[in-house]
Amino acid sequence: MIPLSRPDIAEDEVQAVVRTLRSGRLSLGPEIEAFEREFAEYIGTKEAVAVSSGTAGLHCVVRTLGIREGDEVITSPFSFIASANCILFERARPVFVDIEEERLSMDPAKIEEKITPKTKAILAVHILGIPCSMNALVALALEHELFLIEDTCEAIGAEWRGKKAGSFGAAGVFAFYPNKQMTTSEGGMIVTNHSKIADLCRSLRNQGRGIEEKDIFQRLGYNYRMSDIHAALGRVQLGKIERFLRKRRQVAQWYIDNFKDCQDITLPPQLDESQSWFVFVIRLSDRFTREDRDRLRLLLKKDGIETGAYFPPIHLQEFYQRRYGYKLGDFPITEKIADRTIALPFYNGLKREEVDHASERLLANLSLVPV
Ligand SMILES: *Cc1c(COP(=O)(O)O)cnc(C)c1O
Repeated sequence: MIPLSRPDIAEDEVQAVVRTLRSGRLSLGPEIEAFEREFAEYIGTKEAVAVSSGTAGLHCVVRTLGIREGDEVITSPFSFIASANCILFERARPVFVDIEEERLSMDPAKIEEKITPKTKAILAVHILGIPCSMNALVALALEHELFLIEDTCEAIGAEWRGKKAGSFGAAGVFAFYPNKQMTTSEGGMIVTNHSKIADLCRSLRNQGRGIEEKDIFQRLGYNYRMSDIHAALGRVQLGKIERFLRKRRQVAQWYIDNFKDCQDITLPPQLDESQSWFVFVIRLSDRFTREDRDRLRLLLKKDGIETGAYFPPIHLQEFYQRRYGYKLGDFPITEKIADRTIALPFYNGLKREEVDHASERLLANLSLVPV
C-alpha cells in the first residue's frame, strides 16, 4: 500500500519530544515560547501564537476581529471545510466566491460584487500551497475597509512577490496536522503584525485569562493551547522546512514528468519557487464525470494506491445547503474541478519507483474509464 501522506519524523524529533517529557515543563513552557519566536521569524511577522489546531487558530482570529452574528465573510467554496466553519462558529455568514483555474482560489474579479454593508472580512485560502493573488486582495480589503484573514494551513513557505503567505493580512493561520508540509501531530499557529490581535488570541486560547493578570478571566475563552511536547516536535520540523519543501518539489516534478504527455490529465498549477507543495492533485479532463473519477479511485485502491478527492465543495455540504440555501450550480468552476480531482500519494520520503508505479497504475486504469 502506498499511503496518501506520511509525516517525516527522524531521531532528532524523537529526542526533542523525549527531552521535553523529561523536563517537567509540558504546557505554557519554554518550548512554546521558542517555537512561536522561531515561527514568527520564519514567516516575517512580529508575533506568532501557538494553538491546538489550525481550526482553533482560525476561530481565535475570527473572534478576535469581532466578527459575529449578522456579519458576512467572503471566502472560497473550494477548500477544506474548516476555513468556512470558523465563520459559522461565530454565527456569521460565509459568502462564497467562485474560484479561477489558474490558482484555484477566489477569483478577485468576482469579489467586489459580493461586498455588502454587512461584509466584515475577506478570508483568503492559499489552497494546495498555491499563493493567492495578494495584490488584488490587499487592495480590495483596503478600499472597502475589510479585514484580510489568510488561511495558510496548506501553504507554509509559499510566497507572493518575495513575501511569505500569512504575513499580508490582519492575521494568518497555519496548521500542523500530519499530512501538512510540517507537523506537530496536531497543532496550529496564528501569525500577525498586530500585538493587540496576538494578545487577544493568547487570551482566547487560555480560557480568556488576562495576559498579565492570570487569575482574572476577562472574556469567554477556550482551551486551545498547544503543549510543549507538540512545540518541541514542531521546532525540529521547522528547522528542516526548506529541505522538506525542496523534497516535495522534487516529488511533484517526478509526477509532472510522468503525466505531461497525457491529454486526459490536467496537471496542478506550477508557479515556480513561490509555491509550497502540499499535495499533488491532478484533474481529469472534462469528458470524465465524477462517477468516472470515483471508479478510478477505486481501481487505484485495489492496486494498493491510496488517493484523495480534494475538495468536496463546501457550499454543497448538507448543513451549508440547509442553512444558507446553496445548491448545485452556484459555483460552477469549483464544482467542475472538485468533481474531477485526484490527490496522489505525496510526501517527503516517497521514492521515484513509487511515484512511477502510482503514475503507471493511474494511466493504465484511466484507459478503463469511462466504460
Ligand atoms: C488543514 C486545514 C485546516 C485545519 O487545520 P487543522 O489543524 O486540521 O484544524 C484549515 N484550513 C485548511 C485549508 C486546511 O487545509
